[in-house]
Order: sequence, then structure tokens, then C-alpha cells
Amino acid sequence: MPGTASPLRDVEGTIFDLDQTAIHDGPGVRMNVYLKGCPLRCIWCHSPESQSFRPEVVWYEAKCTRCGQCVPACPEGVRSFDVVDEDAAARCRLCGACVSVCPSGALEIKGQQTTAGELLDEALRLKPFFRRTGGGVTLTGGEPTAQPEFSLAVAGLCGEAGIHMAMETCGFVEWRVLSRLTKVVDLFLFDVKHVAAGLHQQYTGVSNRRILSNLRRLAETGADVIARVPLIPSMNDDAETVGAMGRRIMELGVLRVSLLPFNPATRGKYSWLRRHAPIAGATQQSLEHVAMLQQIVADEGLEVVPP
Ligand code: SF4
Ligand code: SF4
Repeated sequence: MPGTASPLRDVEGTIFDLDQTAIHDGPGVRMNVYLKGCPLRCIWCHSPESQSFRPEVVWYEAKCTRCGQCVPACPEGVRSFDVVDEDAAARCRLCGACVSVCPSGALEIKGQQTTAGELLDEALRLKPFFRRTGGGVTLTGGEPTAQPEFSLAVAGLCGEAGIHMAMETCGFVEWRVLSRLTKVVDLFLFDVKHVAAGLHQQYTGVSNRRILSNLRRLAETGADVIARVPLIPSMNDDAETVGAMGRRIMELGVLRVSLLPFNPATRGKYSWLRRHAPIAGATQQSLEHVAMLQQIVADEGLEVVPP
């Protein structure tokens, strides 16, 4: 609570966004906290600005007048009008010179330090909306479990204040971390991206073994869990693959699933980082196709819930 002296209030974390009126990622109106950094590199990632654990400069193409002032202003030679490679981006020392010199507001440093106490105070301000709508706070990202002490602190403080806590996770985390989070998180939104081990490795950069094991262990604790499947065109959105995912999710002891249609609009975010957008030609699945996939997982015995 504001004014109380819980040491959890001082726990620091890095976030890249805060949405106080979200209507997804959990029930009711929510305050979504976007934590920076993720151990996965999904080739369809819809928030590439979340991947790096450190803050980074983003560029808004629509605001840029191509005046060129930011290019010589950068002491590290990072800024250019071309795609920026990883080596160049790594040289950025976040001095902010490019942001200061830009006359158009086209540059911004994404990623800021905050404390669990500051987020609690914001959540308490919104608590009447949460109460009226059955909402609360959702930790998302990026990957919340990759900043475990911060996530535990935010969830612990909000829980003490009677605020519903949801957390989205890719599940790629040591069980001992997830286990601690079960004590303070009311609802887990747990991503299942593919059940075929080789394809999961190819698409995300990591094995799904630990992820599926964690999902099973989470279900065994009795935690409230919704499995979430991001539908990626030609990668996991065919009937056979979704059916296999539905069966596996049921076998692991989870009873609810959300299917998330692909969102091509987020591709523009790759230009923020001057990176090439992956799977450039992919489009959103039709409503009919998503409905057909929902029926398939429902036939497997799962309850289908909205994203
Ligand atoms: S923040 Fe500094 S180092 Fe980074 S791109 Fe801008 S001017 Fe260059
Ligand atoms: S200073 Fe700003 S407006 Fe000018 S080129 Fe750089 S980003 Fe674009």
C-alpha cells in the first residue's frame, strides 16, 4: 500500500510499456505491464522491442523527416538510414544524443527502470475500475519470469492489496522460479507455440522440453492456467498441428485454451529497430479458419476462451 514500508516496494525492474486500460490478457479492464527482455527469439515475434533486456533506441518512421541530424550526432556510428545490424546496435551506449537532436520526436529510448512500489501505486489508483470490471494487473512482455524478483514483488504487493494478478509466460524458465510465482499469481497465460520439438527449436530458438514440463507441473499445482497458442501462418495453424497441440495440452492437465490469430500489423515495429521484418508475406487467418481450429481443440475436450 502507498506509505507502507514493504521492502518489496524497492525492487527494481525494466519495463518498456504500461497500458492502464487493456481489455485483453486476463479478465476485465487491466493494467498490463510489459517487462523488457525475453530468452526466446520467435521468428514471428510481434514485439521485437521487448526482446533485448537493455533499453534501446527506437525510430518512428512516420515522424522522421529524413533531416539526417541524428546520424552525425551519434558518437558510436549506430544511426543510419539503413537496416542496423546487431553489432552496430550493440555499440549504442544509450547516451541519448540522437534523441535530443531529433527535431521531430522520431526517436525514443524504449525501456525504463521502475520499482514494484511505483507500479503498485498506479494499480491502486485504478483499483475501482478493476473492481467494477473484474480486472486487475497483468505482467507480460517480454518474459516476466526473466525478471523473477521484480515479478514476484509486483505480484506480491498487488496480491496483498486485493488486486487480481495475471501473468503471461513463454514457460522457458527454471521450475523453482515458476513455483515461487504460483504463490502470488492468480492466473497464468501460458504460451504453447508448437509440440513438435524440432520445429519449436527452429521457430523459437529453444527446446520445448522444459516448457511442456513446466506446464504439466503448473497444472499439477492446481494453478489457474490458460494455454495460449499464437497461430502463425504455415507454421502451426493447420488442423493437424492445432489438433496435436490441443491433445497435448489436455494430456498435460490444462483444460482451457485461447487461440491467438496472427497480427500482421505489428510487423511495422521491426522498422522501429531498423531490422528486417520476418515472415513478411504472412496475413491474418480468416474468421472461418480460426473458428474451424477452435472447434478442433473443443473436440479434444478443451474449453476455448477469448484471448
Ligand atoms: S543513444 Fe547515443 S549511442 Fe545510442 S544511437 Fe543514440 S546517439 Fe548513438
Ligand atoms: S533527426 Fe529525427 S527526423 Fe532527422 S533523420 Fe534522425 S530520426 Fe529522422
